[in-house]
Amino acid sequence: MTSTMQKTLHHWVAGARVEGTSGRTSEVTDPATGEVTAHLPLASADEAAAVIAAAKAAFPAWRDTSLARRTQILFRFRELLDARAPELAALITAEHGKVLSDAAGEVARGQEVVEFACGMPHLLKGSATENASTGVDVHSVRQPLGVVGIISPFNFPAMVPMWFFPVAIATGNTVVLKPSEKVPSAALWIAELWSEAGLPDGVFNVLNGDRTAVDALLTSPDVKSISFVGSTPIARYVYETGTAHGKRVQALGGAKNHMVVLPDADLDLAADQAVNAGFGSAGERCMAVSALVAVGDIADTLVSKIADRARALRTGDGRRSCDMGPLVTRAAQERVSGCIDAGESEGAVVVVDGRQGEFDADGSGFFVGPTLLDHVGTDMTVYTDEIFGPVLSVVRVETYARAVELINANPYGNGTAIFTNDGGAARRFQNEVEVGMIGINVPVPVPMAYYSFGGWKNSLFGDTHAHGTEGVHFFTRGKVVTTRWLDPSHAGVNLGFPRNG
Ligand code: NAD
Repeated sequence: MTSTMQKTLHHWVAGARVEGTSGRTSEVTDPATGEVTAHLPLASADEAAAVIAAAKAAFPAWRDTSLARRTQILFRFRELLDARAPELAALITAEHGKVLSDAAGEVARGQEVVEFACGMPHLLKGSATENASTGVDVHSVRQPLGVVGIISPFNFPAMVPMWFFPVAIATGNTVVLKPSEKVPSAALWIAELWSEAGLPDGVFNVLNGDRTAVDALLTSPDVKSISFVGSTPIARYVYETGTAHGKRVQALGGAKNHMVVLPDADLDLAADQAVNAGFGSAGERCMAVSALVAVGDIADTLVSKIADRARALRTGDGRRSCDMGPLVTRAAQERVSGCIDAGESEGAVVVVDGRQGEFDADGSGFFVGPTLLDHVGTDMTVYTDEIFGPVLSVVRVETYARAVELINANPYGNGTAIFTNDGGAARRFQNEVEVGMIGINVPVPVPMAYYSFGGWKNSLFGDTHAHGTEGVHFFTRGKVVTTRWLDPSHAGVNLGFPRNG
């Protein structure tokens, strides 16, 4: 479908729009209508190198800008973002499809990281020891890395980049952000907001592109670190390639999040939360619940409560006060429908079928309605694969021990939740389960900005999670300074290893 409103997008380099010159472009669509809304330039290796060079040129001055001044700019960015958040939410809905309230929630969670980074003077304080040895003092500092690369996925066009860049910028680095080519406008909007907040040119740059741009970031000696979020195969590739090129890399991958419901749980609460966590953002969240593990004899009741709620959801254009929006692309819609077909043919019972339904939208959007599958076996592809759509699979098990065994056997370890009124069981669960983020009667346990976000196993390559103090650590290098102001009594040659005394 064509539209007279199609825009041609650009890169953002050294504080200005830069048109693409590679001749390669990709289409950006409005998932609710199926319309092409923009053409995105995909950078060549040379264009990528020019963006990296702009960030490199901006680094010395930004590194030497006082913490007080850097923080003032962050505060200003926070104020502008707060005032203009609805604009950003609207851009997210127009390219991602999630409903406006969900897009606003994403912006708010990203803003929390900006607020965290506003406290950077405190977070960057080093330590000092007087008289560590006689007349010798020691102190430590943390310094920025240089140019840092951020490569983000389609599902959180604003929040995921904001997990990283506020901390990177506040600690004195300069940034090249490579957003997902499906949802580039949020990053470009944010770049303009930074300029308005007074960030010097070149500190925050947006490089649009595909694998060519990613590879340029991974291999350039001028890029000192990579923060990646996306699917597990690409996360693994990014980690292996980036580290082979001498960079520190944090690469967050895919997920298969289990929600365990014990027999003593409040089943109405559990059903509400399963629907929220399974179908919010059409299941396109790395913390979405995709496997509901019903323990004991509650499954029939729980499935029926979830089904009632899922059938009542209104799916349609995210700008129309619907509960759930479309999937991001036609390909995603077809893939998710195919997953449901496969589950059905493998023996799952389709209790609520999102392949059919009424969708509140004009045009031909990429819709799949909420889908509930029961009696899902752990060998079925709907269980083993990350579907990344509004498909909730119910796995029935007899015991708590079996539920934990399933989670620990899963190759992913991003998030998990347990619903119970038994504190002892919950405590045992948080201790035994091999997953990075745990919810107890909380279905989507996304940590606050001052904690760190990250999974285990195939959900994260590298050992540093996003934001919080781990983020500060990732974007800085430690230095320890040992000082002696000489007095004549310390003179003399001594080739022995320095000892304390
Ligand atoms: P994706 O892996 O397809 O893309 C992520 C980024 O990698 C994009 O910027 C894309 O342009 C780039 N990319 C894609 N293919 C590439 C290739 N062959 N070589 C180099 N770069 C490439 O992921 P997506 O579909 O945009 O996002 C959804 C995935 O992200 C899901 O698996 C989801 O679980 C995951 N995710 C994880 C987290 C987390 O915190 N662990 C958060 C959000 C999303």
